[in-house]
Amino acid sequence: MIGRRAFLRRSGGTLAVGAAGAALGMGWTRSASADCTGATITDGVLSRFRSRIQGSVILPVDTQYATARLGFNRRFDPYPVIIVRAAGTADVARTIEFARTNGITLAIRSGGHSYIGASGGSGVVLDLSAMNSIASLGNGHFQIGAGAQLQQVYGALRCQENMTIPCGSCDTVGFGGIAQGGGFGYLQQAHGITLDRVRSARVVLADGTVVDASPEADADLFWAIRGAGGGSLGVVTDFTVEAVPYKTIHVIGWYWPLASAGEALDRFASLQESGAVPRSATVALVFNNGAASLAPAQCVCVLFSTGTLAEAEATKQLFVGPGGIRATPGLGFQYDADSPACDPHAVAQRDYYRAKSAIVYGQPAADTGDYLRYWLERRVADPMFSPSDSATVNFLTFGGAVSDVGPSDTAFPHRDALLEVQFLGYLQNPTTQSIRKNQAWIQGLYADVFPRLSVHGEGCYVNYCDDDLTEAQWTSRYWGANYPRLQVTKRRVDPADFFHGKQTIRL
Ligand SMILES: Cc1cc2nc3c(=O)[nH]c(=O)nc-3n(C[C@H](O)[C@H](O)[C@H](O)COP(=O)(O)OP(=O)(O)OC[C@H]3O[C@@H](n4cnc5c(N)ncnc54)[C@H](O)[C@@H]3O)c2cc1C
Repeated sequence: MIGRRAFLRRSGGTLAVGAAGAALGMGWTRSASADCTGATITDGVLSRFRSRIQGSVILPVDTQYATARLGFNRRFDPYPVIIVRAAGTADVARTIEFARTNGITLAIRSGGHSYIGASGGSGVVLDLSAMNSIASLGNGHFQIGAGAQLQQVYGALRCQENMTIPCGSCDTVGFGGIAQGGGFGYLQQAHGITLDRVRSARVVLADGTVVDASPEADADLFWAIRGAGGGSLGVVTDFTVEAVPYKTIHVIGWYWPLASAGEALDRFASLQESGAVPRSATVALVFNNGAASLAPAQCVCVLFSTGTLAEAEATKQLFVGPGGIRATPGLGFQYDADSPACDPHAVAQRDYYRAKSAIVYGQPAADTGDYLRYWLERRVADPMFSPSDSATVNFLTFGGAVSDVGPSDTAFPHRDALLEVQFLGYLQNPTTQSIRKNQAWIQGLYADVFPRLSVHGEGCYVNYCDDDLTEAQWTSRYWGANYPRLQVTKRRVDPADFFHGKQTIRL
């Protein structure tokens, strides 16, 4: 495999890469230069490829390139040599063949939200965003194109059959990425994670073979696709899912002062561990530096319930009623949501951020809340961060329907967990110094808190992938005991490791 710069160097490099990374070459490449030891692509090869693609082929000289090359996280600034916006499975197979035979790396993109920029890169980007159709198959089953964004999925399931699916909270995340790694969200206690609702997946393998993986056909690949995360095994073009009946989600939120962080986390984890929180409710505990609301740093607890309003209110009382912690008076909110997305009216915009995760298998160490408070207050006090450089540590209850499935029943191993956690540090206007500070901040926070969350076992979420982890860490924390079986599947379906990326399954 060669990357874009090496590829250009080898091929004579008529496509110039400026200091800022701008690719403004006049045309494509010509013939091999003297140091060429591998592939070259001529204009003829490219135009033949282009003529066989039904979708669009976007080159650095094309006007759409400037936006088409970008993913969600502003931390990454990729300059792919070609972007192929596929129109169907045949385009996918042709693009794989083109990249493979010409020795160019390939990155697959559905929604472009990879935390480590894995769907960008310098080779070919296979963009599935146009493969976003959603069709009812009857009986509560739907076929969902990998490129569909969550807002389209929620909208179509609701309009077509008054149904929904447990999935993530951000409207613009791609179904193709989230469904292969897990799919955490506000319906998980009631209905499990997204991949638990997947009944089959169409996958184009490295050799161009198209497999409809299901319990009946290539059950092993079907097992692996549900938890491996994207990018390792093949290109999933469509999923068949079994949806769940739509129910109004009652959302009730309250605030606790950051001074109660320790108590809040203890109450939250203890209630979840005791089984007192009903399956109809998934609960989030969010510690933040107050930047988003420009209010003081705080803890916000939010209950998402598909039970009756009375049941939701009774669940809230477990947290703030007798024996609980008094909520900050005068603050709080309550509304009914019509999808599991955070805010259906939010305008999705690209963000600059660093993220980390933890899967929590039992009660965190008693002083965890103190450390969370320390790191959030330290960020607030640091003049390097602007008041709008938000930071959060979000806990979400696990268990319920997530743990109805066994740790080795799918490739997603964290079935016995109590909570999952995400750490995020955002920058509004990143500078060299604030980027360094933000990185040091999140690494320091994580160094203190991750061990305290991991006293009963370690884990991280493959969809909140983290490029600070070593290979030994990401393989064991994402997949645990399922990793060896994933490697066996990888060797079978992709023996040459064509689908190779920063944190893909190794041979
Ligand atoms: C703002 C935001 C909110 C989020 N909220 C949630 C949430 O609520 N719950 C949750 O569980 N996760 C959440 N995530 C994480 C999200 O699940 C992952 O980032 C996911 O991988 C994104 O999928 P994508 O298709 O948008 O990203 P992409 O960057 O397109 O893909 C992610 C990875 O999968 C690969 N890939 C993509 N499509 C395919 C395909 N069709 N076949 C094979 N490989 C593929 C890519 O190469 C890449 O490695 C959130 C992320 C962001 C940025």
